[in-house]
Amino acid sequence: MTINKENTETSNFELIFETSPIGMFLLNEYSLVKKINNAALEFLNQNRKDALNKRFGNEIHCQGSTEDIQGCGFGLQCQSCKLQLAINSVLKTGQAITGVEYAKVLIHNGETRKYWFRASVTPIMISEKCNVVVALDNITDSKAVEDSTKKSETELLLSEEKQRVLYERYRSLIMNMPDSFTYNKVIYDEDGTPVDYEVLEINEAYEKTFNVSRAEIIGKRHSELFFGDDPEIFRQGMVEYGEVASTGVGLILPVYYSEWSERWFSMKLYSPEPSFFVSIITDMTKRIQVENELHLAKEKAEAVNRAKSEFLANMSHEIRTPINGIVGMIDLTLLKVINQEQRQNLEIAKACADSLLKIINDILDFSKIEAGKLVIEKIGFNMGDLLDSTIKTHSPLAMKKKLELKCDFSSSIPQTMQGDPNRLKQILNNLLNNALKFTEHGSVTLSVKELSIMDEMVEVMFAICDSGIGISEQDQEKLFRNFSQVDGSITRKYGGTGLGLAISKQLVQMMGGTITVESQKGKGSTFSFSLKFLLSEKLSYPTQDTFTPNHTTKPLRILIVEDDKVNLMVLTLMLKEKGHFIESASNGFEALSLHEKNVYDVIFMDIQMPIMDGIEATAKIREREGERRHTPIIALTAYALVGDREKFLSYGLDEYIPKPIKMCELSQLLEVVVNRGISAKKSGDESEQEVKISDSGKVLNLSYDVPLGVDRDVTLQEISRDIEEISRPLTYEDMNLIEEIAHKIKNNCNLIEADELKTLAFKIELAARRENQEQAIDYILSLKKEFEIYLFLEH
Ligand code: ADP
Repeated sequence: MTINKENTETSNFELIFETSPIGMFLLNEYSLVKKINNAALEFLNQNRKDALNKRFGNEIHCQGSTEDIQGCGFGLQCQSCKLQLAINSVLKTGQAITGVEYAKVLIHNGETRKYWFRASVTPIMISEKCNVVVALDNITDSKAVEDSTKKSETELLLSEEKQRVLYERYRSLIMNMPDSFTYNKVIYDEDGTPVDYEVLEINEAYEKTFNVSRAEIIGKRHSELFFGDDPEIFRQGMVEYGEVASTGVGLILPVYYSEWSERWFSMKLYSPEPSFFVSIITDMTKRIQVENELHLAKEKAEAVNRAKSEFLANMSHEIRTPINGIVGMIDLTLLKVINQEQRQNLEIAKACADSLLKIINDILDFSKIEAGKLVIEKIGFNMGDLLDSTIKTHSPLAMKKKLELKCDFSSSIPQTMQGDPNRLKQILNNLLNNALKFTEHGSVTLSVKELSIMDEMVEVMFAICDSGIGISEQDQEKLFRNFSQVDGSITRKYGGTGLGLAISKQLVQMMGGTITVESQKGKGSTFSFSLKFLLSEKLSYPTQDTFTPNHTTKPLRILIVEDDKVNLMVLTLMLKEKGHFIESASNGFEALSLHEKNVYDVIFMDIQMPIMDGIEATAKIREREGERRHTPIIALTAYALVGDREKFLSYGLDEYIPKPIKMCELSQLLEVVVNRGISAKKSGDESEQEVKISDSGKVLNLSYDVPLGVDRDVTLQEISRDIEEISRPLTYEDMNLIEEIAHKIKNNCNLIEADELKTLAFKIELAARRENQEQAIDYILSLKKEFEIYLFLEH
């Protein structure tokens, strides 16, 4: 075969075309495939015959060519097909386009897949017609590698950016947080002991709070910055920092005052990594100022409250004093022979005074509860006795109203328990009062049942049931509120303050229970509450049954210390009515001088008095008497606040009687106090009875009338005082008093074996008992003279 140049070129071209590893297509001016090489056929998995004369897109199975029935170049995608555009351009301009990268979705072997190609479109003139050669290099795989490289690069960039953003965010958080922040590195010595730390970072709040700049602090050691600090405090601090940095366990330090910055701080420590620690310092100055202000405000409020309580106590004193006078005088007049009408009038007046007193008590209790000052006691008491005495108090009214008053007390309830008997009684009294007040016919029943007994604790249910006017459902909602009464007209008919139920409810709540009501208008009401009590063996609450009056039939020598003339008169008359001898003082100072000269069986001591109050006078009397003697002192006061009794007892007073004083309460109290004194003395007799040998060698038995441990001089002084007392012309009026003093002188003379004096004293005693004043005075004068001689001979 001759090889001419053209042939050679053609065959060369064909050879290159056919053997090229890149898929190649020759397209005519209509974009129909005129030639296709092996690589393309292999890629398209086709035979040559089927491949020719097809539109290019159809040939390569482009997804776009399936969009229109006319095939490649007519579909929607074809409008933007980069390859199509390149072919058109080359056919038109004859200018080659190379290196076009484009992605095509091909439907290959029934599968839709995206391919990446790098294409070159080259013009070629065949029979003076412009044809194009399209070379398609399948770069899908390298593109995927490139993509994934790009992706990981982007991801890396993204994560770096994310880290940077996060870092900025946290840094800005830390730098801008209101608390001061320091980041520090602990410096250890050779033994690994933390000895110092270096500040690596601080925030703006730190700069502002401590008025320093970053430059002054960062990179510096604690020892450089705070070189003036107490070395011991520094050492302790380092132990704590080192501990946090090594263990990673955070620490909150107590609030401290920094002298350096004159502020209060709290400090939290934590360790983000070993050997490093962060301190977060909170400026507490404002908070502490606010707390101080709050504390001051609270103290002020409490002072105001105290002032309110004091005001109430004072007011009650002012109100009770005249009521005391009224009640006392009525009581005394009722004891005299008066006609029926006068008696009725006085009884009404007394009832009015009593209800006025109840109102004052209610208001006082209410204000005490409001002020949170009411204390619930826990003492042993006998439930049966308490219920008994409560019912007895209400019996007269029930009888008067012809109502049946019953008490159902379940016998299974233990008798002694621990609680607040006074407050329980107050609640029961309130509810029984109401039940009797609002019932005209039928009965009132107090029933007390045991609900459970467990772990030394008994739960008791109290119910007060009446057959009275009842309360409508609507009105029941108004109950238990302060100053609440069902309606005005009833209030006018029945009276009251509307505080009783409110107080009862609060008291029940304070004792751990709740109070409820069931009522039907016109049929009656039942008020119930349940309370838990600890079972107790010990009784500390005196009940009527345990009280056995005796001894007080004996007239007592009593000192009343009271500045109010009316009260003094009332009490004096009451006590004289009972046959006692009365002396009086108008303040503590006078009382002290009387007590120095005389021996009293009982002293009634007012608390509020001019010159010297009752508390001070009592303290001085107790100091003077020491172990030697104990004159019972009963506080007389118009204060009626809870806890007063305990307060007075702690001041050395023996008992307490609130004004207005009631005759029966007074007698009972006197008996309790005197009996207590006697039994104390008796028990003293048994255990401490002493036998003394007198100077003359005589055996002396010390009876309880003679104070133990008293020496001759003291006894002589006492006789001297008593003789002075008995010789006062004023005393001559009072034969009882003379008898009392003479009796004492007689005992003292016996003690020191002054027999003549003893006989004279005995004669005075007898004369006084016979009310022979003249004789008594004669003997007194003789006694005085004899005593002077005795003293003269003594020395
Ligand atoms: P008061 O001092 O007015 O009795 P309370 O708080 O004890 O105050 O009672 C408030 C009101 O509740 C009474 O005024 C009365 O209207 C009503 N009330 C209380 N107990 C009874 C009762 N047992 N029967 C009918 N009404 C009652």
